[in-house]
Amino acid sequence: MRALVLLLAVLLVPGLAQAEGRHYGLVAERVAPDTYVFVGMPENFSVKNGGNIVNTGFIVTKAGVVVIDTGPSLLYGREMREAIGKVAPSPVIRVINTHLHPDHIFGNQAFTDVGVEASPATIHGEEVQGKAFADNMYRMVGPWMQGTELSPPVKETPRAVQTVGGHRLEMIALSGHTDADLMVLDHSTGVLFASDLVFLDRAPTTPHADMEGWLAALDEVGKLPFSVLVPGHGRPERSRRAIAQTRDWLIWLNQTLSHAAENGLDMTEAMAQPIPERFKSLALAREEFVRSVSHLYPRLEQAAMRRAEP
Ligand SMILES: [Zn+2]
Repeated sequence: MRALVLLLAVLLVPGLAQAEGRHYGLVAERVAPDTYVFVGMPENFSVKNGGNIVNTGFIVTKAGVVVIDTGPSLLYGREMREAIGKVAPSPVIRVINTHLHPDHIFGNQAFTDVGVEASPATIHGEEVQGKAFADNMYRMVGPWMQGTELSPPVKETPRAVQTVGGHRLEMIALSGHTDADLMVLDHSTGVLFASDLVFLDRAPTTPHADMEGWLAALDEVGKLPFSVLVPGHGRPERSRRAIAQTRDWLIWLNQTLSHAAENGLDMTEAMAQPIPERFKSLALAREEFVRSVSHLYPRLEQAAMRRAEP
C-alpha cells in the first residue's frame, strides 16, 4: 500500500522523480588568493550535463563574497551558494551577471536576497529575451531546470574602480560577444574574469555577436594587466593564449564566411567548409561553426548581394 501511495505521489508531481538526486557536484577551484572558479564542461547543453558548461566564480573579500555569474539553473545557483559557504563563512554581498546568456544567469534566483547586478543593456536583454531563453533551457536540459524562473538583475553595476573588502575591483564594460559584456578585473590579485569575450579550447559562440566589435574588445582585453585570465568557457590560465585563440577563430570565421558569401555559396555549402587543422583540438569546433553560419551568414549574403548590384 505504501509503495502504491509513493508511486501515485511521484506520478502526480511531474518532474519530482527526475529532480531527486540530481546535483552538479560543483567544486570550487582556487585560482589565486581569495579567488575561486567553478569550471564548466567543454560541451553543449544536454540533459546529461544539466547545462554545467560555463565558468562561474567568486572572490572572498573581507567585506563578504562577490559572485560572478550564477550558472544555468536554480539548482546550480543553490549548489554554488552552498559550495561558496564551505569555502567562506562570510555572506554573499554582490552578485554580477557578466552578460545575458542563459548559462550565466539562471542561477540568479538563488541570490535574490542579495540583488543581482549587471550592465543596463544586460538587464534590459534579460527582461526582453529571458523568457525565450528559459523555454529553450527547459527544452535542452529538462529536469535540471525544475523550479527555475527568470530573475533579471535588479540593479546597475557601478562602473568605477571600487575597493571591496580590501580588493580593488574594476568593472570593465565592453561588447562584441553580446551588446554588453562586463569583465571583472581584481587589481589586488591580478585575476581577470573575462566573460564570454574570451573562450579557451572550446569554439566561441556567436548568437549575438558583432564580429568587429568583438575583435576591438579583444584588443582592449589584451592591454589589461592581469596575471590569471578566467574565460567564460575553458580552463583558467596564466597566459594570453585564450585571447590569441579567440581572436584567431573569429578572424578565420569572419573571413571564411565573407569569402563564401562573395563566391555565392549557399548556406549548406558554407556550413560544409573545412575547419583548419589548428582548430581541430577545439571542443565543438564543427558544431559552433555550423551554428555561426546560421547566425551570421544571412547578413553576409545580403551584403555580398548588395555589393554585386550594378
Ligand atoms: Zn555568452
